[in-house]
Amino acid sequence: MNISEILTHLGEDRKKYFNAVSPPIIQTSNFVFNSLSDFRQAMTDELAHNIYTRGNNPTVEILRKKLAALEGSEDALVFAAGAGAISAAIIGNVKSGDHIICVDKPYSWTFSLLTKFLPRFNVSHTFVDGRDINKIKKAIQPNTTFLMLESPNSISFEIQDLKACAELAKRHGIISCIDNSYASPYFQNPINFGIDIVVHSGSKYINGHSDVVCGVLCASHQMVSKIFNSEQMTLASIISPNEASLILRGLRTFEIRMQKTHESAMKIAKWLDGHPKVKRVAYPFLESFPQHELAKKQMRGCGGLFSVYFKTDQPEKMELFFNRIQRFLLAVSWGGYESLMIPFIAFHNMEDREAVQVPWNLVRIYIGLEDANWLMEDLEQAMEIL
Ligand SMILES: *Cc1c(COP(=O)(O)O)cnc(C)c1O
Repeated sequence: MNISEILTHLGEDRKKYFNAVSPPIIQTSNFVFNSLSDFRQAMTDELAHNIYTRGNNPTVEILRKKLAALEGSEDALVFAAGAGAISAAIIGNVKSGDHIICVDKPYSWTFSLLTKFLPRFNVSHTFVDGRDINKIKKAIQPNTTFLMLESPNSISFEIQDLKACAELAKRHGIISCIDNSYASPYFQNPINFGIDIVVHSGSKYINGHSDVVCGVLCASHQMVSKIFNSEQMTLASIISPNEASLILRGLRTFEIRMQKTHESAMKIAKWLDGHPKVKRVAYPFLESFPQHELAKKQMRGCGGLFSVYFKTDQPEKMELFFNRIQRFLLAVSWGGYESLMIPFIAFHNMEDREAVQVPWNLVRIYIGLEDANWLMEDLEQAMEIL
């Protein structure tokens, strides 16, 4: 389906709400039934009926339909956070005694779920270098039931061959799942390669305005219905109609935001890649990226996120660099208007951050929607100190 059709029309039945152009915020906790038989009917399938807002809500439902269409899945659920979507996808598909294979360096709270939370319920895991399909294959045990991918990841951007992973998982009866937050549904649709479940942090590009935290899970209707009726209804990681409305508003500009962030990031990453103060830039759409060919094969673009490894061997200089930066904001996350930087030197020598083993001379940069030249001026003046 055309993206304009999805964003303007899909799920929006304007006649039901006074022909309003914008989707309504149905701010209610519960819904009335006109008859006993309607009541009885609704109770047979909570996902398909409006009963109570912890289950279905019309504003949230409009959002679910659009997200499923954007990702090319049969159905979708929206969660209170990306971490909620990831947790529901994994917990919903494992039981005591099962084994999970996960790619190296996953998102920190995916790492925490696998290493701290699930072992309490006798679910084990193996981390593997997902760049090599044979390493994934070798990690399969008789009790492996779940394969967790993240392609690219959001710091070093390692990529997995999604078609090969999906085929391998299917052959062994393993559920495959990918965290697709980096590429967003605009640039990569893993369902097309045969991946079973796609999860997103909707807090990034999908909402796109640094003002809502939410998560998305896209899969077959059967998988969505299963997760809705167990993990989502019991753990109740849901968003409010108000937040759903903000995300629907953010989605209206999804396409132009994604195009602009990709275009500016490409320009700035290319410029930095040859810069005398820079050792290397990691961005899958640069030709210098080790898995560039695979990136081009399964992604239509890359978005605004890349990492820069600076040449300096003095941590003090790196600190001074951040003191000089004016136009980028020092902040985690990405996907909004504002360009951001994560100074990994802030985590340097920190105890208890096993998931963040990143060199201090690495800066993760998010290129937002501001003028690219204006951003480059800031980088240029700050890099003088290095
Ligand atoms: C931010 C992020 C998450 C978690 O999403 P929240 O909405 O913050 O819970 C998961 N995976 C990746 C790759 C992320 O960047």
